[in-house]
Amino acid sequence: MSRAGRRFKALHANNGQALAGCDPRRGRRVRVLLLLCLCGALSLAMILALYLSAEPSGSLLPHPADLIKDRLSHKPNKYSVAQAKKLAGQVDGHRLWETHLRPLLIERVPGTTGSQIIRQHILSQLRSLSAGWTLEENDFVSSTPKGDVTFTNLLAVLDPSAPRRLLLACHHDSKIIPADPKNSKRVFVGASDSAVPCAIILELASALDKQLKALKQQRSAVTLQLVFFDGEEAFEEWTDTDSLYGSRHLAELMSRTPHPAGSTKSSLLQAVDLLVLLDLLGAPEPLIVNHFDNTARWFDRLIAAEKRLHKQGLLTSHPSEQSYFRKDFYLGPVQDDHIPFLNRGVPVLHLIPTPFPVFWHTLDDVEERMHRPTVENLTRILAIFVAEYLSL
Ligand SMILES: [Zn+2]
Repeated sequence: MSRAGRRFKALHANNGQALAGCDPRRGRRVRVLLLLCLCGALSLAMILALYLSAEPSGSLLPHPADLIKDRLSHKPNKYSVAQAKKLAGQVDGHRLWETHLRPLLIERVPGTTGSQIIRQHILSQLRSLSAGWTLEENDFVSSTPKGDVTFTNLLAVLDPSAPRRLLLACHHDSKIIPADPKNSKRVFVGASDSAVPCAIILELASALDKQLKALKQQRSAVTLQLVFFDGEEAFEEWTDTDSLYGSRHLAELMSRTPHPAGSTKSSLLQAVDLLVLLDLLGAPEPLIVNHFDNTARWFDRLIAAEKRLHKQGLLTSHPSEQSYFRKDFYLGPVQDDHIPFLNRGVPVLHLIPTPFPVFWHTLDDVEERMHRPTVENLTRILAIFVAEYLSL
């Protein structure tokens, strides 16, 4: 508006000088013409101002319909044998276990010091990478059967301004389970629930660090977001209000966050291509089934990655080419952190073994019951999946 006004003033002054000394009739005609020109310029300026105030960045913003169209037509890269081998080789089982997993194996109840310690661990691991993650501690207070509790979701986004996002998620809290009455040091550390899934996600970020840095520099249309939910577990019995504290909060928050910033047409939630939720992983021989028809083609990519890596001899203690990801049976849905997103229309891949591990929600969910080759294999399969999805 101000720029248009300055141009108008300069035009008036120049023409005024040029008209000096002309005959009165010609002068009148020119003045009428000039007035018409000025009215035209003013109208144009007003139209431009109205257009800009309606949508700050104009028609370049993706409309939700475009986001959905782009998501549905998204094509993953298909890697060659050599590329898959190279990617799988970037997963470091030792780093996954010693650096990422071990510090997570403590009690991590929401609002406690244990929770604070493991959140700092997750953030420091992500800060140490070269990709340049934008990190956020998403705090909120919610009432629970134990009173008001402060929860903290951890969010890491590679390129917050990218139009679309692939979400990789797990929960970082542990369930309140009393310690062993005979040994107070024997506490619930939830190795599979969900320390191992968090360690897998940290290892994926570490293993793909160089490629993710390049992806960010290319300003790709689809970026990666990592979500570490707090408060997945019920404080007492699982109900709609006593469970999924972090995911309910985040799904709601994302649904009312404009994306791109300033948009009146689309939210951050609509920018989510796919939510990949990991839970209860770490025991040997997990059976992970397909839960949703609308994401079956992405589940097929996991099956394909497992088969390919098996054929290449890149998985260890892996008896048959299709051991983990199965579409030939179904044991029913599982309530988990994906629900608040699913209910709002976000496509979901729920990577959880059914049946659950036998030690689920017992003091036996410990490191010793985890199977390192299985955890490393799953991480390799997911590395291929993420790299192909994002065309790393
Ligand atoms: Zn649990």
